[in-house]
Amino acid sequence: MNHLKREIKEKSLKYHIITYGCQMNSHESEKIAGLLEEMGYGPADSKEDADFILFNTCCVRENAEQKTFGNVGRIKKLKLKNKDLLVAVCGCMMQQKQAAQKLLDTFPFVDIVFGTHNIHELPNMILAVKEKHERVYQAPELTELHDDVPQKRAAGPLASVNIMYGCNNFCSYCIVPYVRGRERSRNAEEIIREIAELSPHGYREVMLLGQNVNSYDGGIGFPQLLTRICEETDIPRIRFMTSHPKDLSDELISVIGRYPQICRHIHLPVQSGSSRILREMNRNYTREAYIGLVEKIRKNIPGIAITTDIIVGFPGETEADFADTLSLVREIRFDSAFTFVYSPRSGTRAAEMPDQIGEEIQSKRIIELVALQNEITEQRNREYVGKTLEVLVEGISTRDPGHMCGRTSTSKMVNFPGPPSLTGEFADIKITQGKKTTLFGEMIKEEP
Ligand code: SF4
Repeated sequence: MNHLKREIKEKSLKYHIITYGCQMNSHESEKIAGLLEEMGYGPADSKEDADFILFNTCCVRENAEQKTFGNVGRIKKLKLKNKDLLVAVCGCMMQQKQAAQKLLDTFPFVDIVFGTHNIHELPNMILAVKEKHERVYQAPELTELHDDVPQKRAAGPLASVNIMYGCNNFCSYCIVPYVRGRERSRNAEEIIREIAELSPHGYREVMLLGQNVNSYDGGIGFPQLLTRICEETDIPRIRFMTSHPKDLSDELISVIGRYPQICRHIHLPVQSGSSRILREMNRNYTREAYIGLVEKIRKNIPGIAITTDIIVGFPGETEADFADTLSLVREIRFDSAFTFVYSPRSGTRAAEMPDQIGEEIQSKRIIELVALQNEITEQRNREYVGKTLEVLVEGISTRDPGHMCGRTSTSKMVNFPGPPSLTGEFADIKITQGKKTTLFGEMIKEEP
């Protein structure tokens, strides 16, 4: 390994990572970057500039898979120009044997393929390719955690921290439990230590990540973990995702209410407004239970924002079921929603269900749902006009280089005129305009 590290340093080799999918994947790409930098690789400005290109894939939706195949295929011309270029593909899609085999068969120029459980083995895989000139394919079914890898966190005041991996819920449409395995929680002490080290390095907000944080069990439960993070670290803001509605406890609601550091935002995927469809999805709650939960959260934590995920066109979804989803959206008035057309994933129970819904009906329904939610989101955003909100400034706005952007505790994106030196600071912003995706405002004062 030392010989390889020397070679990487001497040749100033560079890496480029292309990440698809969720925040969990983005955070794993930070770990991959950490491992590569520990080996001596530096970051490349683009894939054209790189000596090692890695695709971190997602398989939650079919179009993400198609996109991956298209983009990996386009790397061939770079490989023809530079025979020393290493190409690796990893992540959820590669944890599925069939997809990994198809990729290996289609693209003989891919050197390394690995799954979700063995990121820590990447240096050894690179060594094997360099020394034995062999392709490597490793996607073991592991359950133990290998979390002690270096991380190259993205620049800025936000940091992600995994608290658990995997999922036991087996929602009938979801591939995640098959590619991420069963739930494994990290030890609470390790998590607290990791978070305590963040603020001296300029991080102001931590996102606790897990497929279902409510079932965290690392010696203590999730409400206790949050309590300890609030009591024992000085990180000013804490977020978490994702919360499954079936086990969001009263204790968790009371802990969020007690600590102002915990952001006033819960992402609570409802998926459907029809209790019949929820049963088919194996979600383990009804429409009524979900509405009751939202009422309880709003009553106990005033001003909290609630966002959600909704799937339309699930097998067997009737017009009446879809009407139930629309009426639930009107009743709850989510702050925003991620909306998806159902995408069958091979190996899941829903993919085998009769009455798969045709594309025409699916697209008609998604258009109707998106239009409704957009209207509600904009109305909700307009309700902030005239209020002063504390914003954690994340950097220069991508829409307007003269503006800065940042988020409120309720996860609203705010754009306002201000100097780049504000990045990483909290600023009080008076909201002047509420649009569909963004609030606009003016700075009141800058916190030292
Ligand atoms: S809770 Fe359901 S949707 Fe979420 S990851 Fe687990 S199985 Fe998938």
